Order: sequence, then C-alpha cells, then structure tokens
Amino acid sequence: MKAAPFDYVRVESLEELFSLMGAIGDDALILAGGQSLVPAMAMRMARPRLLLDVNHIPGLSGVTLGDSALHIGALTRYHELAASPEIARHAPLIAAAVPLIAHEAIRSRGTLGGNIAHADPASEMPAVLLALDATIHAESGQGGRTIPACDFFLGTYETALAPGEIVRSVSIPRPQRAERSAIDEVVRRAGDYAMAGAAIRLVAEAGRVAEARIALFGVADRALRCAPAEEALRGAEIAALPIEEAVAALRDALEPLADLHAGAATKRHLAGVVTGRLLAGLQEEHENG
Ligand SMILES: Cc1cc2nc3c(=O)[nH]c(=O)nc-3n(C[C@H](O)[C@H](O)[C@H](O)COP(=O)(O)OP(=O)(O)OC[C@H]3O[C@@H](n4cnc5c(N)ncnc54)[C@H](O)[C@@H]3O)c2cc1C
Repeated sequence: MKAAPFDYVRVESLEELFSLMGAIGDDALILAGGQSLVPAMAMRMARPRLLLDVNHIPGLSGVTLGDSALHIGALTRYHELAASPEIARHAPLIAAAVPLIAHEAIRSRGTLGGNIAHADPASEMPAVLLALDATIHAESGQGGRTIPACDFFLGTYETALAPGEIVRSVSIPRPQRAERSAIDEVVRRAGDYAMAGAAIRLVAEAGRVAEARIALFGVADRALRCAPAEEALRGAEIAALPIEEAVAALRDALEPLADLHAGAATKRHLAGVVTGRLLAGLQEEHENG
C-alpha cells in the first residue's frame, strides 16, 4: 500500500511551524525522523493532509550541559544520543537504551522527540525518562511549558501534548549522588519492540539504596513505575539487594495488558525476570567497584 496523497513543507523556523499548525490544525503532522510516521502513512493508519518537515529548523537538535541538568533537543537522533560524551557521563541509561531500539538504519534517523511524541507503550525511552526523572519542554505558538515525564505519557500513542504543541527538548537532572542504572528487555527478535522491559536507577548513599526507580515498558498502555518494588529496595545495602522481595512485589502489583505477542501472565513473569536480572547485575557491578 502507498500513502494517501499529501502536501509537504520544509519548515525553516518555529514561527513558520506554529503558524502552519495553527492554520491547518489536526490535518498537519510533524515529520521528524519519519521512522514511525512514514510506515503509518504507508499503511494508511495516518493520513495527514500536510507534512511539516522540522528537520531544518535551527536549534532543535543537540545535547547541552547546564549547571543542574542535561538538555536534549527534540530532534537529537538516537545515534547522536549514543555517541554523546555528556550523555555517557551524566545519563548513561539513555546511551544504554539506544542499542535496544530497532536497528542501525532506524537509529540513524529516529529522534528522541519523535519517540516520546509517538508514545509507543513498548518503547524504551519513555521508561528511561521516568527512571531519570526527566522533564519535557513543550512549545506552541502561545509559549512554552514544562511537563514532568510522569505526567507526559497518558496511554497508547497518547501524551499530554495539547493540539498545536510540540516537544521542544527534554531535560535530565544531573546526578547529585552516586548512582547506578541499567536497562534490559525481552524481545522475540533483536530490534523488535519489547514484550516486557525495565529501566532501573538506584541512587546510593553510604552503600545503601537512598532512592530506587523501576520503570517498566511493554506491559501496560504506557511506561510506568512500580512503587512497591521500589519500596522493597529502599534502604537496602547495594551489596545485598533484596532481589527476590522486589521481584515478588513487582509481580504482585503489576496488572499487565496482553498484546499480540504475550498474555498478561507471561508479561508479569517476564517483567519479573528482567527486573531480577538487572538488580543482580547492578549488585555485581557495585561489588566489582
Ligand atoms: C521496524 C521498526 C522497529 C522499531 N523498533 C522500535 C523499538 O524497538 N523501540 C522504539 O522505541 N521504537 C522503535 N521504532 C520506532 C522508532 O523508534 C521511531 O523512530 C520513533 O518512535 C519515532 O521517532 P521519529 O523521529 O522517527 O518520529 P516520526 O516518525 O517522524 O514521528 C512520530 C510521531 O511523532 C510526531 N512528532 C515527531 N516529532 C515531534 C515533536 N518534536 N513534537 C511533537 N510531535 C512530534 C509526528 O508527527 C508523528 O505523529 C521502530 C520503528 C520501526 C520502523
């Protein structure tokens, strides 16, 4: 199948973008990396009348280090995230997530902004942003606002962006204390969306867990944190994490949504397996210094 007919504009500035979005409304869609939108158009699941190509708008891409946060432009591509020294140093969980996303060709075009605006519940980055306590900066012709990651993902392909709003950038707080993080998932084939996955961040103080964040993906209609499993870890020695308790708490609390690839019971089991493995890996990493 081929895409339904559409018009295309190479947009040169945010002013032009907001003016066109205002004039055309819902019939205009932003084209970033095109890695979700173009296949959706080819299958006629998306039928925009106008494609607004934002790839040439200056200032929407790149990673910058501020005093208290790392700022990532919406148009920053996955491969740039993986290659960034600032991300490797201040938000290594993002770099660790990139190789799990799709394939090299998709990672060379896909963008962070497009990923989170698309809000696929099995996508890695929304969980990573929850684990890192990120903030999303949205902008429209009326101005900008910030949305905490925990309020941004509302459901399958649904976000807190209002009509006419775009993702402008994402900020990640710079770590104030020692921390360790990791991400993993179960997939049918390398590069597929996850059947179940977890992104974990442990903040340490005097060898103990001061704060734990466990964000799951591929198990519900959006990425979500698992508070009971986080609670099970709080205060524990990192060298002796209560892994079984945390996994049991996670399985008790989780009410997964079945999808085409796995039922709820399988997803509950897999989420526990991934979380247990990640915690064991973080504990081992701590022991090895
Ligand atoms: C075979 C295949 C496998 C894949 N596997 C994975 C995977 O394992 N994990 C994963 O996370 N993803 C996967 N993807 C999706 C990929 O990561 C997409 O690139 C990503 O979801 C969208 O980013 P994009 O820049 O390509 O956005 P686009 O496709 O250009 O846009 C996606 C949607 O977001 C909107 N949009 C884009 N940018 C903005 C913005 N700044 N503000 C507001 N709205 C915006 C567009 O209008 C569109 O509705 C896969 C894709 C394919 C084709």
